[in-house]
Amino acid sequence: KVRVRFAPSPTGFLHLGGLRTALYNYLFAKSKNGVFILRIEDTDQTRLVPGATQQLVDDLEYVGIIPDEGPNGRGDHGPYVQSERLHFYREAAEKLIESQSAYYCFCTETRLELLRKDAIRHRRVPKYDNRCRHLSPKAVREKILAGSSKCVRFKLIPSEPYVDLIYGTINHEVHEIEGDPVILKADGWPTYHLANVVDDHRMEISHVIRGVEWIQSTNKHLMIYKAFGYSPPNFAHLPLLLNPDGSKLSKRQGDLTIRTLRERGIYPLALANFVLQAGSGFDSKSEGLQPMDQLVSKFQLSKVSTNSCRLPFDRLPDFNRADIEQQLRSPVDRQKLISRVQHLVSKSANQIRDVEAVHPDDAFIVKTLEWCLPRISTLEDLVADDLKFLWFMPSASSLENISAGSLRAVEEKLEVCEFERPLLVKELKQFSAEANVPFKKLMHMLRKALSGLETGPGVVDMLVIFGKDVSLSRLRRARR
Ligand code: GLU
Repeated sequence: KVRVRFAPSPTGFLHLGGLRTALYNYLFAKSKNGVFILRIEDTDQTRLVPGATQQLVDDLEYVGIIPDEGPNGRGDHGPYVQSERLHFYREAAEKLIESQSAYYCFCTETRLELLRKDAIRHRRVPKYDNRCRHLSPKAVREKILAGSSKCVRFKLIPSEPYVDLIYGTINHEVHEIEGDPVILKADGWPTYHLANVVDDHRMEISHVIRGVEWIQSTNKHLMIYKAFGYSPPNFAHLPLLLNPDGSKLSKRQGDLTIRTLRERGIYPLALANFVLQAGSGFDSKSEGLQPMDQLVSKFQLSKVSTNSCRLPFDRLPDFNRADIEQQLRSPVDRQKLISRVQHLVSKSANQIRDVEAVHPDDAFIVKTLEWCLPRISTLEDLVADDLKFLWFMPSASSLENISAGSLRAVEEKLEVCEFERPLLVKELKQFSAEANVPFKKLMHMLRKALSGLETGPGVVDMLVIFGKDVSLSRLRRARR
């Protein structure tokens, strides 16, 4: 049975890198009829951000990822939050000490600091010198009785190569590079390595799919599995995710959180397609927006390559537009879009002073959305300067210098004209010839009267969108 997990630390909002890892896990699980687990790795209590777990859950849900097991109360391998599993890690550390795969270390912070300084002075990479590995059982007993502060360290051994499902054969000779790592701290809390292995085993994880930044830890994890006598899961490390310019994505880039993108009006499917487009895992790169079930059925872990992936930010607007277009086609989603537009309009009405908002009905909103689609990438764009006229009356100052006489004459023409594009074009051309008003000048006047804009969308487009009644009332108002 395929069981995968996404195991974020609750240190802030979910960012694009995290979303990518979550999505790959999710696609893999769903494509294999497997289980997707959300596990919260909060053992580094100094880095916790209050509320972050709930935010992670919300952001995943926004993109359509509902964990089959996780802190939402589902699943029988819980608890799914590491700070609620401390007894498992303590028990596991004891077990490793008994089998002599781990040992108590009594080195003081002062000694460790001296070791670090010494290494730096000699231009060596600081590492623990494994001194306590060699303490006699008697010395250990005495120190424990004396109540000395102690942590537990894992004995690194020569590592064995393993086959990563994406990177192939890997062997990081950790024992040559690092000192024995702490697995249980003096305060009884585990470090990442111990908690991660214990939980992946207890939660019966079959595939660990995570970012390549963890690949250095995997040989160490495999040693820990071996020391316990557990059979390890499969490992698949995902290539680096980069900015379009090839620089590293940073968690500190605030605009890369799902929350910000969501607030900017980026829709779930657009987000998912955007993040997955950056990588591989599919037979061919698809151009359009694909629904989640299609992504699931097409995904192949074996197709993920080791090439780092640059996020295609330039394609995000297209994906989002396609997402909005899709929502317009479904009656339920369309209704939600309509309420969001209504909400946006009233929100921006509160922000701009001295404007007269129109109260658009559903049909007007849908018609307008369809027309606007090529010009927008988020719904927010609908209330930006160049499209605001759709929802608000032109301000008095933008209507100055309008020749009431000429306007009155066009109105008369329009009153008896069908509001269809070819007819309107014909009628306006005719008027321009008869009244001897240059066509360009006529359009400029009408655009201003209808929208208050000097430049912008075509006048005939505006007339069609507003329809006869609204258009005429705007023209009349402009004459006042
Ligand atoms: N807690 C780690 C993180 O924040 C999990 C790494 C893993 O998946 O093993 O990414």
